[in-house]
Amino acid sequence: MRHPSVRFFPVVCLAVVLSGLVSSPAAAPLAAVGHPLPPWQRGMLDIHQINTGTGNAALFILPDGTTWLLDAGAVNRSGSREPRYDAPQRPDTSVRAGQSIVRYIRRVHPEGEGGALDYAMLTHFHDDHMGTLLPESPTAKSGAYQLTGITEVGDELRIRLLLDRDWPEYSYPAPSGGAMMLNYRAFLQWQREHRGLQVARFEAGRNDQIGLRRAPRDFPSFEVRNIAANGRVWTGAGTTARTRFPEGIMPNENNCSLAFRLTYGAFTYFNGGDMAGQLAPTSAAWTDLESAVAWVTGPVDVHALNHHGTPDGANAFFLSVLQPRVHILSTYASSQPGPEVMRRMLSERIYPGPRDIFMTNTHWPGRREHMVKLYGEKETAWLLERFGEIASTQGHVVVRVEPGGARYSVLVVDDSKVDGGVRSVHGPYESRGAARAAR
Ligand SMILES: [Zn+2]
Repeated sequence: MRHPSVRFFPVVCLAVVLSGLVSSPAAAPLAAVGHPLPPWQRGMLDIHQINTGTGNAALFILPDGTTWLLDAGAVNRSGSREPRYDAPQRPDTSVRAGQSIVRYIRRVHPEGEGGALDYAMLTHFHDDHMGTLLPESPTAKSGAYQLTGITEVGDELRIRLLLDRDWPEYSYPAPSGGAMMLNYRAFLQWQREHRGLQVARFEAGRNDQIGLRRAPRDFPSFEVRNIAANGRVWTGAGTTARTRFPEGIMPNENNCSLAFRLTYGAFTYFNGGDMAGQLAPTSAAWTDLESAVAWVTGPVDVHALNHHGTPDGANAFFLSVLQPRVHILSTYASSQPGPEVMRRMLSERIYPGPRDIFMTNTHWPGRREHMVKLYGEKETAWLLERFGEIASTQGHVVVRVEPGGARYSVLVVDDSKVDGGVRSVHGPYESRGAARAAR
């Protein structure tokens, strides 16, 4: 498997540096290895897959400066500062994951330190997406809730609108009375009463729940289409959706994940939380959400791999329709990604053409022995060889789409310290829609 952006990486970097030297003063500064990430500028679309080593978190900076946090995971052991899974916490365990996410956002926010989040969204109610509640999780100054993941981020940074899959009842598929959900609901209530937080249920089919809050008319090609939630999937017609879940079944939390498609000009991105599609021999057909979602999503440029590279995600049909040029994997355990998923992602029989894979937290010392326990010597050796070939195995992954959406680059940012610089530059890639329009 050849990956041009990796093979030609030194050439790309040199070209990036040289073109930065001769570009006009008005042009956006280009990213260069070893230097800080150049700030977002108006017209750009930034997607920052933030690596804390303890779950999922992504910050979107939309073309008019609207900000949107997707998930704020934090999985830690009780009585220890270590993560519950075996990836190392980033930058280290001196601060909690929620605090690391806040620091990251403050560093890149278009309005600087004091900037609020226009949107926050939870793909589903698992702790690697919203934060583990531990006995030692500190209590907010207000005394109303404990701080972990999304409640910690939202306590520090004002959130204007929070979207989740089940506001306001929290009763689907069954009433949720667990301590983590009660803490989350106490957070929502206090923030609504004291800080003006709005909360809404994400509804499959709609394209008006996430939008540009500052200058929507300046970027008319921008759209976020809600594709799925609670097993309901957009039909592709208007804003209608229909359920994939038969009457009387009990889906699990991952089955209920939100999914959306973001388009900006010729550029398209997909995120489906932890939804599944690869059926085990004994699984019911309705657990395959990915196939229904693929029909209405279509080809994309960039794809956040469903369920972190767990074997039930990224089925062959789903990949054959989306055909991602860039895969982003939010990884925090030895099992991620498994060899089956890696084979599917790399297979040119599933879809032709080059593709680049970026993982957030994969290549750490000590991982090999855990992988051998899971996959055996032979499969582990095969996977580690692949890890050596792919675009990046460690760091924050920043997709930076150029104004208008015709091209984008992927910038890997050092996650070992709070102010880490750019570690590698990949691309620029031509967005699919631009390539189609030129034919
Ligand atoms: Zn997850």
